[in-house]
Amino acid sequence: MLWSGWGDPAKAAELPAPVRGLLGDLLGVRAPAAPAATFGEVRLPAAALPPPVQAALAAIVGDEHVRADDDARIRHTRGKSTPDLLLMRAGDASDAPDAVVLPGSHDEVAAVLRLCAEHRVAVVPFGGGTSVVGGLVAARRGFAGVVALDLARLDRLVSVDPVSMIAELEPGLRAPQAERLLAEHGLTLGHFPQSYEYATLGGFAAARSSGQASAGYGRFDDMVAGMTVATPRGALEIGRAPRSAAGPDLRQVFLGSEGAFGVITSLRLRVHRAPAVRAYEGWRFESFTAGTAAMRRLAQEGRPPTVLRLSDETETMVGLAKPTDLGAAGRDSGCLLVAGYEGDTCDVAHRRERAAAVLAEEGGVHLGPEPGEKWAQGRFSAPYLRDSLLAAGATVETLETAGFWSDLPRLYDAVRLALLGALGSPLVMCHISHVYATGASLYFTVVTAQTGDPLAQWAAAKRAANEAIVRAGGTISHHHGVGRDHREAYAEEIGDLGVEILRGIKERLDPAGILNPGVLIP
Ligand SMILES: Cc1cc2nc3c(=O)[nH]c(=O)nc-3n(C[C@H](O)[C@H](O)[C@H](O)COP(=O)(O)OP(=O)(O)OC[C@H]3O[C@@H](n4cnc5c(N)ncnc54)[C@H](O)[C@@H]3O)c2cc1C
Repeated sequence: MLWSGWGDPAKAAELPAPVRGLLGDLLGVRAPAAPAATFGEVRLPAAALPPPVQAALAAIVGDEHVRADDDARIRHTRGKSTPDLLLMRAGDASDAPDAVVLPGSHDEVAAVLRLCAEHRVAVVPFGGGTSVVGGLVAARRGFAGVVALDLARLDRLVSVDPVSMIAELEPGLRAPQAERLLAEHGLTLGHFPQSYEYATLGGFAAARSSGQASAGYGRFDDMVAGMTVATPRGALEIGRAPRSAAGPDLRQVFLGSEGAFGVITSLRLRVHRAPAVRAYEGWRFESFTAGTAAMRRLAQEGRPPTVLRLSDETETMVGLAKPTDLGAAGRDSGCLLVAGYEGDTCDVAHRRERAAAVLAEEGGVHLGPEPGEKWAQGRFSAPYLRDSLLAAGATVETLETAGFWSDLPRLYDAVRLALLGALGSPLVMCHISHVYATGASLYFTVVTAQTGDPLAQWAAAKRAANEAIVRAGGTISHHHGVGRDHREAYAEEIGDLGVEILRGIKERLDPAGILNPGVLIP
């Protein structure tokens, strides 16, 4: 993973000349940004971990699994939001941990937590490092040091129960690794977020992730049948039946807990048979409103397509080389809807036929497989473009929310207006890609010309968007989580008593407050 950007540097995407032209003409991007710092130019604070603590950590996990070298520290600094990348490009690694610790088992995690609690060392659980909400930056004040607890060595498929269709997997597995291991058993998780190449199972559970095929396979938190968690106070084994009436569901305490309550060391996940057929196709709708109505019907009438994704007019226009590709010669581009079907041949044919009838009834025009296949091929490549846009002098960032169907148009308008008001004349694009019977998420991508201080520029826009979401009654996050960036809005969402409950849980499980301090809890 590129330390100051996204992904495999070999896959870096050059901006095509017409896009550069578009940035200049449409957004007023005039000059490229200052070049990104080289590795040697990064400013890294001296490591502060007391030597006896470092030695004790090495005694638990092995010398070679405690790393305090510059490379390891820089690669575990922050996550992958645009502000994170802007800071790294500027050579600022002031949030680096003092050391990176790589435990090899649940018992080692538990021992590390006990040791760190005793010596007041903050612990930041680290999966793939793809957080986009500031979930990997610990508040240092009051601590003797900060360690990143990298779970990469917990990477086993522990067991498969083909009768119950449950697999036990360790949290440090990246999604492609997990899919490869499950494929050997003819199984899939069906969890494909855009961060798929790098994010881990533990991160998905801890941040309540949702993948691009959520309409068919569900959100990640719905896949978790059980889990093992290490806390400074001891271990918890949660989930012993498909459903239970034995009091509140403790899984929900740890799903979305972002490393602040404990470290997930094992996950028992619902799995599916690997699909025999994957088919994607495109539909055109006159407007976002018309497409949204069709999505709602599909979500409410049951068994929707596996992938269901509707771009608004702006995202449709920007995403297509030629807007007329949508097949309505001479007319506006309208909105592109991608429907994808995964399953066995019979099931796919049946669902496709039913969905096609609904989409056509709602005014959709079938565009054939090409737009769907094109989306499927490029589904993990957009994050690479962000680096090129940042280098070209544009700021690009995403944010997301969710609401009930009846509130969705108001939420959409409120967030768009807030971003337009804060940024002047940015490009604001939106899509719906996670649907439920009762509502859906809205995912915004914003591109704007960088000012002299792009961090302050984005902070103002983000504040405005957060306020708009809270005022319009949406949730502050549908799948990115809370981290540090959404703490205040989260507090407004759950109220004072809600905050007290979270603090109470934190005090009980982590009395020394070492787990990811500053994240999640207002
Ligand atoms: C380009 C890009 C695209 C993205 N697309 C999507 C998307 O489509 N859908 C989506 O849901 N998200 C998306 N995200 C956000 C991010 O990938 C998810 O939040 C993901 O769940 C994080 O996983 P991770 O392994 O990288 O976790 P990390 O970023 O390493 O950690 C996330 C949080 O979980 C905690 N944590 C990690 N592992 C554990 C553990 N084992 N126990 C306890 N706490 C733990 C960390 O301390 C941190 O607070 C995207 C991010 C990027 C940069």
